[in-house]
Order: sequence, then structure tokens, then C-alpha cells
Amino acid sequence: MGSISSPISLHVIVVGGGICGLSAAIALRRAGHRVTVYEKYSADADAGAGIVICSNAVRVLRQWGLDLERAGMFQHKTGYIVNGATLKVLNVAFGEDSRLHKRNDDGDAMYLTTRQDLKMLLRDEAERAVLGEGTVDFRYGWEVVDYDPERPAVKFGDGTWVESDLVVACDGIRSRATKVICGYEDPAQPTGRSALRLLIRDEDLEAVKERYKDNKFISDRFHHDGTIWFAHEHERLVVWWTCRFGKIHAFDVIMPDDGKYLSKEDWTAKCDKQVFLKDFEHWHPLYRDLFDAADEAPMLWKVCAREPLKTLRKDKLCQLGDALHPMPPFRAQGGTQSIEDAGALEVVLAGITDKSELPHRLAILDKLRVPRYSCAQLMSTVRQDDRNMEERFAEVLKECRKWFDGEAQSHRESLSDDSFELSSDVRSGQSRELAEVVVVVRREGSG
Ligand SMILES: Cc1cc2nc3c(=O)[nH]c(=O)nc-3n(C[C@H](O)[C@H](O)[C@H](O)COP(=O)(O)OP(=O)(O)OC[C@H]3O[C@@H](n4cnc5c(N)ncnc54)[C@H](O)[C@@H]3O)c2cc1C
Repeated sequence: MGSISSPISLHVIVVGGGICGLSAAIALRRAGHRVTVYEKYSADADAGAGIVICSNAVRVLRQWGLDLERAGMFQHKTGYIVNGATLKVLNVAFGEDSRLHKRNDDGDAMYLTTRQDLKMLLRDEAERAVLGEGTVDFRYGWEVVDYDPERPAVKFGDGTWVESDLVVACDGIRSRATKVICGYEDPAQPTGRSALRLLIRDEDLEAVKERYKDNKFISDRFHHDGTIWFAHEHERLVVWWTCRFGKIHAFDVIMPDDGKYLSKEDWTAKCDKQVFLKDFEHWHPLYRDLFDAADEAPMLWKVCAREPLKTLRKDKLCQLGDALHPMPPFRAQGGTQSIEDAGALEVVLAGITDKSELPHRLAILDKLRVPRYSCAQLMSTVRQDDRNMEERFAEVLKECRKWFDGEAQSHRESLSDDSFELSSDVRSGQSRELAEVVVVVRREGSG
């Protein structure tokens, strides 16, 4: 009779306490490991911005038992595409009459929230003590300046190194881990777009509501939670949704980065509100009224992206989230993929009985994630340029198909690898994600 080994608890360093780092901490805790999260800023430092969580991440969050409605998030129900100057409805992007709704008939949902609310939910969950699971310890104000993938270890500004069994770099778009893993610098490049992000309190919009109370289409927008308006005009896209139990309105404004605003790829930059308001002079007055009511200037982000990396790991260092797969925000997949990364991490690192299993397990993580994030990155570039979208969509589908048709099938074989048992529910979750992309690629490709 063979001996049955007990699972061991690894010490894992997670670098970065953003959406990805917090999700990775939950995943590792659930897989029974002892986690230390090093974050260079304080716990509450983050951009005042909204975020849409797509159904592929919602499945992971639900698997973790998180109650998104209780956290004030709204399920996305209807999406209108409107002309920014006239408010004429051009299309229904989501909702009962839309194409997407018909496809999405298995009860999956997208949720509307703010970055702060999502991070608070994730942090509370990461810190929860659960009998039989691992632990998470947060160290705020600690900046990692270098990585050693072999020991593995991280270095801090004072020159000290801290070792662990595994290092997971979730240190965002300017990650220092990419160079260590790839062996060369490969920074995300500007896409030519800027994003301005704004949160406005519902109570600050009373005068605007009063002004438009006789316009049913507009006044409905204030009352219908779960509705998104995508307004287009003059190369500008304004996305508007409501969150935090209806108390907050979130706006993402995506426009050409024409140098008028000095945008940066971090969350500390703000733009001049008056310059911003002037930019909307030719839009429907509703938008100027809304933006005028904001008590703060919009946050300003330079939208950057990079070609998909071929691997997420080197020795006992791996990177996840924006560090691994920065992408434009057009499909709301950046944070969503970060949560999916963590879902996969949990599956792959659960039930490990010896440290010597780590290289094999990380190889499986690679095979699971590379096709998924590569397709998400490629798909997210399509809307970047409205002028040749159809050709670019066809090109991107061709690229994505390479992962799922023909020769490049190694990632699928890993799912039925006898030497390592994936827990069946999570395994089906991962297979489902892969299957979903295959279905979309095949259908769109043949249509
Ligand atoms: C305009 C815009 C709209 C978006 N909308 C959506 C959306 O609707 N849905 C969606 O899913 N995604 C969206 N995204 C993308 C999403 O915001 C990112 O993908 C997500 O925040 C990535 O999370 P992360 O934890 O990997 O990185 P970050 O959020 O950048 O977090 C990295 C963390 O690491 C810390 N850190 C960095 N370096 C170090 C270091 N050396 N040592 C210690 N700590 C360090 C940072 O302080 C930070 O807390 C949008 C992005 C933009 C720009």
C-alpha cells in the first residue's frame, strides 16, 4: 500500500496589494499557504475610479463565496450605445433585446462597482481566518526593488532580501519582475489613448436630476441601477454606470491622447477640469452638467498595452495581473483577468505535498493562463482604432484561433495530466473558460 502524503503549507510572497495581489492572497490562503503581501503604498491609497467585473471573474468571486450585491455592486442589466451629442440610442449592447444577452443565457452576470469597493471586499476576504486554510499578512509601505527567482526572494530599498518558497509579482503595469522573467525590458507602450476617470456622488447630482426630470430617457438613467450608457462622439467614448447602492456614479472617458492633457500611466495624475469641460462643448448639455457637478477633477491615465508574453514564470517567481498582461480597457478584462489568474493559482497550488512539485505546478499554471490572457489582450486591442475595426477583429480572431485549433494544443493536455489531480469543480471552471473562448473564436471565425 502506498503512503498518503499530507498537503504542505508554503510561504508565499505576493508583491502588490491591488486587485490582483488581493485576489492572489485569497487564492493562496484557500490553497492552505502562508502569504505575506508587500504593498508600497498604504492600504487605502487608490484611484477614485469605477470598474466593471465581467462574468469570467464573477464566477471566481462567487466560488470564493463573496456576496457582490451585499457589497453594494449592481448587476449589469442593460447597456445603451448613444450618440453623445444627441443622446439618440444607436444600439442596445446588453439587455433583453441584445445579441449578448441571448448568448449569455446561463445566468452569468457582470457587476458594476468602484475599485475601492472591490478592493475592500477582497481585502476583508483575504484577512478572514478560516480553519484549515492558510493565513495572509499585509505589510504596507514596503516597496520591492528587485527579484531573485531561484532562491526565491525579494529585495527592499534598504538592501535586505526576504526569502520564501514562491514569489508572485502582482506589482502592476510597471512591474520590475517582467525583466527578471523575460531577460529583457518589455515595458507596456502608450496606445495613443488617454482615460479620464471620475466618481460623482448621487447627492451632488440633485440639480441635474431636477433639470432633466421631464426627459424620461435621462431621468430613467438615474433610477435604473445596472444600466450603462456608452456615449460616442468625436473620437470620445464616455461610459457611465451607477454603483455603491446607487450612491456613486462612475464615468470613464476614453479619448485620443493628443498631448493636451499630460497623462501618465499611474493613478496620481489629475486633469484640469476647465479644459476637460471645454472638450465637451459640442456634446449634449447633460454631460457638461454632470461633469460640472463633480467636486474633483478627473483622474487621468495614459492607456498602455503590450504584446502577450509567452510565459508568466521563471523558476519560483511568477507574475500575474497588469504586471503580466497590461491591456486597453475596451473589454473590461484587465482586472477581470487578474481575478481569473488568481482562480487558476488556487487550483494549481492546492494540495501540494512537497516543494519539489512546484516547478511542475507552475508549468501547469503557465499552460492554463497563457492562452487565456493572450486572447484577452489581443481582443482588447480591437476597439483601439474605430477606423479599421472589422479587419483588425478578423486578424485578432486568427491569432486567437492559433491557441485553440490545430497544433498549439499543449495547454489542453495539461488539464488531463495524470500526475496531478485538479479539484473537479475548479477544473471544470478552467475548462469552461477555455471552452468558452473556443466557442466564441469558432463562431465568430465562421460567421
Ligand atoms: C481607464 C481604465 C478603465 C479600466 N476599466 C476596467 C474595467 O472596467 N474592468 C476591468 O476588469 N479592468 C479595468 N481596467 C484595468 C484594471 O484597472 C487593471 O487591470 C487592474 O487594476 C490590475 O490590477 P493589478 O493588481 O494587476 O495592478 P494595480 O492595480 O496597478 O496594482 C498593483 C499594486 O502593486 C503595488 N506596487 C507596484 N510596484 C510595487 C513594488 N515595487 N513593491 C510593492 N508594491 C508595488 C501598487 O502600489 C499597486 O497597489 C481599467 C483600466 C483603465 C486604465
